[in-house]
Amino acid sequence: MGDLAGRVGLVTGGGRGIGRAIALSLAHGGAEVAVSGRSADVLEETVSAIRAVGPRATAIVCDVTQRSQVDDMVARIKKDLGQPLILINNAGIAGSAKLSDTTDDMWDAMLRTNATGAFYCMRALVPHMVEAKWGRVINIASIAARAGAAYIAAYAASKHALLGLTRSIAAEVATKGVTVNAICPGYVDTEMTDRSAAFISARTRRDEKEARKILEGFSPQQRLMTAEEVASLASYLCSEAARGINGQGIVVDGGSVQA
Ligand code: NDP
Repeated sequence: MGDLAGRVGLVTGGGRGIGRAIALSLAHGGAEVAVSGRSADVLEETVSAIRAVGPRATAIVCDVTQRSQVDDMVARIKKDLGQPLILINNAGIAGSAKLSDTTDDMWDAMLRTNATGAFYCMRALVPHMVEAKWGRVINIASIAARAGAAYIAAYAASKHALLGLTRSIAAEVATKGVTVNAICPGYVDTEMTDRSAAFISARTRRDEKEARKILEGFSPQQRLMTAEEVASLASYLCSEAARGINGQGIVVDGGSVQA
């Protein structure tokens, strides 16, 4: 059994991509894992994969932008697996537009999903971590939380908000055995990046392979990061060895964001 045996974790957006990789990594560490998202089919598939590793798991359909659904999800996890003391706020959406094309709906959806959803989950779970004198919160932000870039105002604003939330709650719980950190990946090889490549391809009339090359070129390593690299770091941040790491926004991008 790994470092996380006996712990219960929640991974929002755990049905695919980075969230799925983190859910499996936590399970390999021994944790029981709840995965949530809006699509039941992929959640069930992830739960089967976790059970094949060993620990118990549960799938919960929940839109993190809806506070009542978050409250119901937390109650369900407690009933199915016990009180979660590990929270991975991974659910997120991305989009790109110049400022004048950024609609109210796009702005609201990005802020509600990427920042408010994480806030709802943290407010529901962190007090229990404080009570237990142990907890881990990992917010999957982005390099767009550490630096701005053209045409991603709504996304960057939402991820900067998520990093601000991370840093503030980390300070609030620092003496309580709870750590709160963010992981800030560059482009990761997931469906989200497939959609970014398709968008570039449609806009520039390049084929998708060329569009992916552009995205790979944002990293000094000339490659996309993998979901498993992000997941390994998340598992490390959950470990006892990482108890001194708090309030950080750790970049995983091959070296483009250095400050
Ligand atoms: P995917 O699009 O593959 O997965 C996104 C996940 O979030 C899905 O499981 C989706 O499930 C879930 N989700 C989206 N909206 C909601 C919602 N309202 N309520 C609950 N779940 C929701 O993306 P990735 O795996 O690539 O991204 C995961 C996280 O990593 C995101 O926060 C993203 O911003 C961040 N990130 C990604 C990078 C990349 O290059 N891919 C780079 C940097 C950060 P469903 O649709 O079923 O609800």
